[in-house]
Amino acid sequence: MPEGNEIHRWAERHYAAFGGKVIRADGPQGRFKDTDVIDGRKLLRVMAVGKHLGYVFGKDRILHIHLGLQGDFTEGTGPLPEVRGALRLRMWNAAAIKKPVAPGESKRHAWYADDDGSNDFDAKRVAWVELRGPMDCSIYTNAKWDKLRERLGPDPLGVDGKGGDDPDRAFAKILKSRKAIGELLMDQSVIAGIGNIYRAELLFRARLSPFTPGKDVPEATLRAIWNDALPLMRAGMADRRIVTTLPRDRPSSHGRNSKRPPEKAEVHYVYRRNGLPCFVCGTAVRKQEMAGRNLFWCPVCQTD
Ligand SMILES: [Zn+2]
Repeated sequence: MPEGNEIHRWAERHYAAFGGKVIRADGPQGRFKDTDVIDGRKLLRVMAVGKHLGYVFGKDRILHIHLGLQGDFTEGTGPLPEVRGALRLRMWNAAAIKKPVAPGESKRHAWYADDDGSNDFDAKRVAWVELRGPMDCSIYTNAKWDKLRERLGPDPLGVDGKGGDDPDRAFAKILKSRKAIGELLMDQSVIAGIGNIYRAELLFRARLSPFTPGKDVPEATLRAIWNDALPLMRAGMADRRIVTTLPRDRPSSHGRNSKRPPEKAEVHYVYRRNGLPCFVCGTAVRKQEMAGRNLFWCPVCQTD
């Protein structure tokens, strides 16, 4: 499941590619029938909240996309590729591509975790995107989008990926709750956009036990976590890689004072490091299920 950094990255990238331009859209296999609402219109803005994307083509013409577990975009610079796979939607720059021609180049995007960025190309060159396997792809009215925003907690990245959401709503919910902070951080109605990796890593960086009840977390700690999330998630947008360790905590020699990218085994403090020694104290990192997802933490560094 992509986390907020990945969703906001798509928002920025698709706006850079298509913002202010006339966009053609179709659902060539009949899996999405409402393309006439947006086809041939200018893309005015791309919004992201938590794991939701909203492409604004005018009032009550918001294309809502939630990738869910399986959804992914493919993009390309050349002519529109021939239709293949379970294609829900494709959008293309009307000025760059006069009519669909086949075949063309269609490269699948690797997930950020496996992508070293070498396949990346300038978003301004993107002529088309394809969408496959999303949990939702539908047209929202402005009212429906507003309702979604109300249902979701504030997003550390803000609606435009630069922060700015007011976190007080989230803090108030957490400080009233007996639920564990590790569970609350994953609850999209409390805070939007944080997934399993950021949950584990933000709690480690705050040295806070994931089992601490929300009501017992000092508000200053919540604020520190909130402030920590924005630069971490922004960095994850830029290079599609979630890196949360500080250079001084990475055991490999090149990590200590170097600007070189960290080795794969050193990008996280606790996420998927169960059984391995904590980079800070050497204790074995632990794993346990919480609210249906694996939770990772250091029992020594992270206290109530
Ligand atoms: Zn530790």
